[in-house]
Amino acid sequence: MRASDLLHPRPEGLYCPPGDFFIDPVRPVGRALITHGHSDHARSDHRSVLATQQTLDIMGLRYGEGFASTTQPARLGETIVLDGVSVSFHPAGHVLGSAQISVEHQGMRIVASGDYKRRKDATCVPFEPIRCDVFITEATFGLPVFRHPPDTEEIARLLKSAAQFPERSHLVGAYALGKAERVMRLLRDAGYDRPLYIHGALAKLSEYYQSQGIDLGILEPATVEGGKGDFAGAIVVGPPSAFADRWARRFPDPISCFASGWMRIRQRAKQGGVELPLIISDHADWDELTATIKETGAEEIWVTHGREEALVRWCELEGIAARPLHLVGYEDEGD
Ligand SMILES: [Zn+2]
Ligand SMILES: [Zn+2]
Repeated sequence: MRASDLLHPRPEGLYCPPGDFFIDPVRPVGRALITHGHSDHARSDHRSVLATQQTLDIMGLRYGEGFASTTQPARLGETIVLDGVSVSFHPAGHVLGSAQISVEHQGMRIVASGDYKRRKDATCVPFEPIRCDVFITEATFGLPVFRHPPDTEEIARLLKSAAQFPERSHLVGAYALGKAERVMRLLRDAGYDRPLYIHGALAKLSEYYQSQGIDLGILEPATVEGGKGDFAGAIVVGPPSAFADRWARRFPDPISCFASGWMRIRQRAKQGGVELPLIISDHADWDELTATIKETGAEEIWVTHGREEALVRWCELEGIAARPLHLVGYEDEGD
């Protein structure tokens, strides 16, 4: 069987004809297998959804309990047979509940990694390389210029600034699913034990992370009661969009921070008015992408979700067959 007979792109998403399912479809379909809860991958209104329990829980929190007609939890490493096709979920290290999906049929194995990273992250299970014939990799940061520094260094810069300007507040923009919780956890691991103030958009998800045993310490709602003085010296975490609106003006002389892999690009930080860019990413950087491709032992790489061309070229130079996989509708909310 050819790999493209087992999985190929359709307008709805990546489709498996023999198993009659889609992976991370962008439109409502009959059967969806979902890698993780970011909104570009996990959409509502599919008839049935197969995903890890944590991804199902996260979809329930975001879309309400009726987000699909039926759901089935997939345990990591367990094989589930769908119309003769064996599928299994394996940790992707991207956000809580995230998984790669292995699809195996007639001796051919394709692994769709979804989004992934290789860094240690106390808020999710680490990525496991899976041997396969075809590896589908993301390429959000698929250029050699993207090399993420250690996250502990980035957090140390935030804490240094907080110590230096005790009368000001630090507003940290971080995506609601994954990045915000990781930043809070990194602050705790660095010994910061004061309450963290969170925007309302983070309340349900950070509570869910805590319920899954990920200690984020004391979180307080970032609502103003006694005037601006309350937030002097505070670290406030919220979705990046919130810091552009009126909500942000309640804080005393705020320092705008943004936790994202894109903060490597100085111009981008400047344009966004970010004073303290924190290069913290939930995606693999260039070195992680290329190391992972080698570790899977795959003879063929399909590249999607970002800077396809450079990674395709790197594979070709390494003697690995590669091609871009043009999937539409993915714009990551968790970079
Ligand atoms: Zn994602
Ligand atoms: Zn994505």
